[in-house]
Amino acid sequence: MLELRDISVSYGAIDAVECVDLSAAPGTITALIGANGAGKSSLLKAVSGLVKPKVGRILLDGEDIGALQPHERARLGIAHALEGRRLFHQHTVEENLVTAWHFRHPSGDFKRAVDQVYANFPILAERRRLKAGTLSGGQQQMLILSMATLHEPRLVLLDEPSLGLAPIIVSQIYEFIRGYCAEGGRTVVLSEQMASLALKVADQGYVLRQGEVVQSGDSAQLRGDGVAGAYLG
Ligand code: ATP
Repeated sequence: MLELRDISVSYGAIDAVECVDLSAAPGTITALIGANGAGKSSLLKAVSGLVKPKVGRILLDGEDIGALQPHERARLGIAHALEGRRLFHQHTVEENLVTAWHFRHPSGDFKRAVDQVYANFPILAERRRLKAGTLSGGQQQMLILSMATLHEPRLVLLDEPSLGLAPIIVSQIYEFIRGYCAEGGRTVVLSEQMASLALKVADQGYVLRQGEVVQSGDSAQLRGDGVAGAYLG
């Protein structure tokens, strides 16, 4: 269970996130919905430790993780896939997976984990020996998601996983995210500019505008409230 209490993030004089309260339960997907600059990325970064909130508390399964460094949060089972496809472009698909695996000093079985990746996304198995930079945008996103979930973290933060992708790829990506989340009660929090898409895949949504939560609730309720039209056109 992830709980944010009264989180505010500032960059100097810029208030990016203001007094946000949020709860995300195991086995659910939470969507942060909002236009460019609404504060979605900053909120995700506050959870993974990449930015330090000005005030507020962050609890993971009741433990206050606010004072922990990003690598310590990663060790607790928080993974964050940042916006902008961060891959080693000159390395092969498999080398990227190896790097992601060793980065976290794992105790598990790499072969089993990588076989699971290739079962999830057979196209990555076909392209395992190709440089990641030669993959399409959708395939790169599949690789990034695979790297983020390789160690089966209990909390996965995804920054705009659908950005710039064709609808068919977006469906595949979201099908994977839903499956990952359902298995073993894992929690996913993702940001999404397209409210209608977010509310189709997520269990609940938080609509952010200029850093503040202006509406929240379960997805069906937000769809009924016409959130997509009201905030994002
Ligand atoms: P996007 O979809 O463009 O990433 P977002 O909803 O994720 O938007 P943030 O990236 O969190 O929003 O940005 C929130 C506000 O904070 C914006 O006004 C943005 O310009 C500002 N901001 C974000 N990062 C920084 C930074 N490193 N330094 C200064 N201001 C920043």
